[in-house]
Amino acid sequence: MITDYYFPHCPLGTLPLCASLRRLKKSDTIFVAGHRGLAGGAIFRELQSAGYANLLTRTRAEVDLSQREKVRAFFEKERPQVVVVAAAKVGGIKANNDFPVEFLLENLNIQNNLIEAAYDFGAEKLLFLGSSCIYPKFAPQPIPESALLTGALEPTNEPYALAKIAGIKLCQAYAREYGRNFISAMPTNLYGPGDNFDLNTSHVLPALLRKVHEAKDRGDATVSVWGTGTPRREFLHVEDLAHACRFLLENYDQPEFVNVGCGSDVTIRELVELICEVVGFKGELAFDSTKPDGTPRKLLDTSKLTQLGWRPRISLKDGIRQTYNWYCQRLASQ
Ligand code: GDP
Repeated sequence: MITDYYFPHCPLGTLPLCASLRRLKKSDTIFVAGHRGLAGGAIFRELQSAGYANLLTRTRAEVDLSQREKVRAFFEKERPQVVVVAAAKVGGIKANNDFPVEFLLENLNIQNNLIEAAYDFGAEKLLFLGSSCIYPKFAPQPIPESALLTGALEPTNEPYALAKIAGIKLCQAYAREYGRNFISAMPTNLYGPGDNFDLNTSHVLPALLRKVHEAKDRGDATVSVWGTGTPRREFLHVEDLAHACRFLLENYDQPEFVNVGCGSDVTIRELVELICEVVGFKGELAFDSTKPDGTPRKLLDTSKLTQLGWRPRISLKDGIRQTYNWYCQRLASQ
């Protein structure tokens, strides 16, 4: 429902964002911030293959996004018409737990710099990527968008979640106060080619792919799995996420954020069993309950996005196979 609370700049009864609304053009200058990351890389490839001809990227050495003046100088020169905020400091449960300062501060700095500069230098549309960890630890499952800020967060990733919540709110504030078409998407746990396989900082899926692969290689009888194996997680292939992001950029112009997921979840035990099957590891699983489980369940309610007409295309098993092939090819080329 459209309310005048969100759109005080629009006369009552008119559409929000009326002045700046227009469809994306293939010639638009689109800055994909974070193009070397898992999500940003996939979004860049998706936009490129859809025919967007003026994609802008910058490495960290070229423009450090945590430095406000560097970001502003870049925006002043390039004046992108569309901005995708896929740049973030991300990590798995251990990294989030070990480095709360960095996860809070770096993410706030990066997103504030990008969103503020996008407005100040005239970007017409911005897509901010959040995360499913923004929701309360004990949110109803599947989690609807309306569960935001209805309860306490999961402590292991609270700093990251708070930064992401601030990002959503900043986009909504620019929409409400200045009528800007700044939208947000909340992806569930992502995986795919280009993921981080460092066991200290990675998310669970790449970590277990690597552990199971190495256990098989060494001929180990067991593979170590953190926690009890009972938490449930939803996994979305990053190419599906990228497709959803293009869909939203092209079709969605509301400040209310949108969940992006595949609609089903598995236990960590089921995930590792699937990985063992794909890798061909026949040993036992050793659950290490001295390691944290994190939030018990994180399944997004994706009915809003599916009602808009978007569907995921890659099954978990196919996605794991494809990611494992990519991982093996990368190992072979090193
Ligand atoms: P989360 O979804 O934000 O909690 O973060 P992760 O992607 O790191 O997933 C964490 C879940 O997977 C927790 O229940 C962990 O106990 C479990 N897990 C099992 N083995 C591993 C592992 O080797 N690495 C990571 N990161 N998590 C693991």
